[in-house]
Amino acid sequence: MAPAKMIDPFALPRLYPLATPPEPEKNWALFFDLDGTLLEIARTPDSVVVPHDLIRDLAAASTALGGALAVVSGRPLAEVDALLAPLRLPGAGEHGAVVRLPCGSRDEVDDQVPGEWAEALTDAAADKEGVSVERKVHSVVVHYRRAPRFEGFFKHLCAELIQGAASEFEILQGKMAVEIRPKTVTKARAVELLMQGEPFRGRKPIFVGDDVTDQDGFRAAEAFGGKGLDVFVRFAGLPLEVRRWLKSIGRL
Ligand SMILES: [Mg+2]
Repeated sequence: MAPAKMIDPFALPRLYPLATPPEPEKNWALFFDLDGTLLEIARTPDSVVVPHDLIRDLAAASTALGGALAVVSGRPLAEVDALLAPLRLPGAGEHGAVVRLPCGSRDEVDDQVPGEWAEALTDAAADKEGVSVERKVHSVVVHYRRAPRFEGFFKHLCAELIQGAASEFEILQGKMAVEIRPKTVTKARAVELLMQGEPFRGRKPIFVGDDVTDQDGFRAAEAFGGKGLDVFVRFAGLPLEVRRWLKSIGRL
């Protein structure tokens, strides 16, 4: 009988992409999205797990960059702070609606989604198992990760709600979530505000994110001579790879 043929693993087609993050540089200002970038996405927003060394690695990277490290999330700032406690980094909540500057002061937009829209979505979700409505100060989000069959229904309802006010509000299609937000609220706002002052000013902004809302952050970073790093393109779609890279920044 002929001997079994050995399989050469290097001759196999690659089934998953490799992470190819850039070499960190001392003059960077770093902006990180949170969910899907530093943290694995969970079934519900409150069931995310914060790896035990993430806080330490973020603190070390922040120190290595002279404090020019920010977290820019779609979550309210208080939630970001609770997840990353005891760290209170500069950055933004609600996609840039609330920006915390390095001195600790906050810059917040006035625009808010009308309360009756949030109520209409909450009413519609009441009899739909697996759908939850999250009311933020400035926007409203419908999460349907556990019931994706309702995606079409809620996208349609959101479109109906903003009809007539489409110049002021927009619909954001996230991962298993749809959100209505004021058009003045984008992650670019956070980058632009933070880049105006120390210790961010004059540095090269690098924005790391995984979702559509991060594209605004990418564009803002590019406008300041930096760049955006898409988690899917540069980190094989894995927050684990982003965290591995974050460790190397702390050693700069
Ligand atoms: Mg994300």
